[in-house]
Amino acid sequence: MGKSETIAIIGAGIAGLAAGCYAQMNGYETHIFELHDIPGGLCTAWERKDYIFDGCIHYLFGSGPGQPFYSMWEELGAMQNRPMLNHDQLLQIWGQDGRTLTVYSDPDRLEAEISALSPADARLARELAEGVRRFTAFDMTVMYTKPRSLMQPFDYAQLGQQMLPFVLPLIKFGMTPARRYAARFQDPFLREAVARMFGWPEMPMMAGMQLLAYMHNGNAGFPAGGSLAFARALEQRYLALGGRISYKAQVEQILVEHDRAVGVRLYNDEVHHADVIISAADGRGTLFHMLDGRYVNARLRKLYTGDLPLQSMMQISLGVNRDLHDHPHWITYLLAAPMLIAGREHSDISVQHYSFDPSLAPAGKSAMTVLLKSDYDYWQRIYGRRLYDTEQLQVADQLLDLIEQHHPGIRGHVEVTDVATPVSFERYTGNWQGSTCGWLLTPRTMRLMIEGLPKTLPGLRNLYLAGQWVEPGGSVTLAAASGRNAVQLICAADGRHFASSTPALHL
Ligand SMILES: Cc1cc2nc3c(=O)[nH]c(=O)nc-3n(C[C@H](O)[C@H](O)[C@H](O)COP(=O)(O)OP(=O)(O)OC[C@H]3O[C@@H](n4cnc5c(N)ncnc54)[C@H](O)[C@@H]3O)c2cc1C
Repeated sequence: MGKSETIAIIGAGIAGLAAGCYAQMNGYETHIFELHDIPGGLCTAWERKDYIFDGCIHYLFGSGPGQPFYSMWEELGAMQNRPMLNHDQLLQIWGQDGRTLTVYSDPDRLEAEISALSPADARLARELAEGVRRFTAFDMTVMYTKPRSLMQPFDYAQLGQQMLPFVLPLIKFGMTPARRYAARFQDPFLREAVARMFGWPEMPMMAGMQLLAYMHNGNAGFPAGGSLAFARALEQRYLALGGRISYKAQVEQILVEHDRAVGVRLYNDEVHHADVIISAADGRGTLFHMLDGRYVNARLRKLYTGDLPLQSMMQISLGVNRDLHDHPHWITYLLAAPMLIAGREHSDISVQHYSFDPSLAPAGKSAMTVLLKSDYDYWQRIYGRRLYDTEQLQVADQLLDLIEQHHPGIRGHVEVTDVATPVSFERYTGNWQGSTCGWLLTPRTMRLMIEGLPKTLPGLRNLYLAGQWVEPGGSVTLAAASGRNAVQLICAADGRHFASSTPALHL
């Protein structure tokens, strides 16, 4: 069998673009097929009147020069000329009793904040802060520098050595969801607040500590200009490397001959042959639609039909003619009574604004967003009917009532309202149930994340998988790393030395 020369890549999300860039750097001729008319997939933003509503990055792992993952983003052309905006706090949680927990990324400030709120919980505050301090030294890239299947005994020895100081905290905090950790606090407000301090109560404490640690190191910033501009930088890097992208090109089938992937067929019946295929699209769609479920073993079937949690979300975006930059950029309000929104009860609501990035709204105005867990089936059942639109308006209205309590008069300043449901996420990115990160990061999926999921399919040659469905928990950083890993596997199969390069400051 000769060496591969051509690669077809399904999906121009971050994983597909990264795979394309690294494949071009290694001398392959690549062609990306993307169903949408823009790059980025979930890493996106949309413009409505004066406002840009960002739909993705809150924190970018790898945003700090010299820090883990930074060099990968530099190779992908995403860092050049792009300021990173760092926050000193992840979010604030406002209780009903008037108390607030500010989740500082600085472990000293976090410890002082929690201890001041409840001196009786000072020991736990210290333990939590100590966990954050410990993870400031944790280099996550050790798990993604090479795909597991390419690791030699020497690599494993090195990995073991680098992981050793973190093994105990990884076990202790990796398997404990924030909800369970919070239950140990004596103070009733902290029991509620700590459960939500990293976003969702099932988030493993270790992942939350890691996030604060990276923020503290200046390695989890927000890319100025937002998520779509960030994705466009990868697209430009890919094109500059000689890659080719077809937009509005949805792949219907991966073509297979004698258990070897040989090309793709699009919905418009065009056929494109290639030596190798990388699917950086939705995992379930790849396995069960593009390949008709022919290369799925019991483990994969269980993953895609089992009960692992997904992250189906709604995003309600508001363009308001009001300057919010003096307000905390992210507040989670604990509610006095659960609020029924789109068929689901919520005991808290998180409201964010983007006034820290002046490029997302005109001076004196602000883009605000609310992200809510929402059931895919609820929206799917009414999609295409007038009820779908009225229900969206009703949700926005309910949330405005709540926001109005904290920003009196803001209703009169709303200039634009935009609602995205799990069905919108599914339509624009093809992700199963509109999931925004593949499988949600919980202690169960954390185990999968550490073990790693296979990047190839049993019995099928020349097909590689990349993206959030092979890196449980997702994130743009792990999506990009998985695109890089897919190319490393292809190079290894071809006996090529994997190479990478960094573009000059101006692309
Ligand atoms: C609201 C929100 C907040 C987030 N916050 C963060 C954050 O703060 N930090 C962070 O790192 N990550 C965050 N994420 C997660 C991150 O965006 C994703 O995990 C990551 O972008 C996934 O990239 P991907 O390339 O694997 O998949 P996708 O982005 O889903 O890309 C897949 C691409 O394949 C295309 N496609 C699908 N099917 C086909 C087909 N049949 N033919 C052709 N093309 C197809 C899709 O259109 C899409 O462009 C967030 C996501 C959301 C939605």
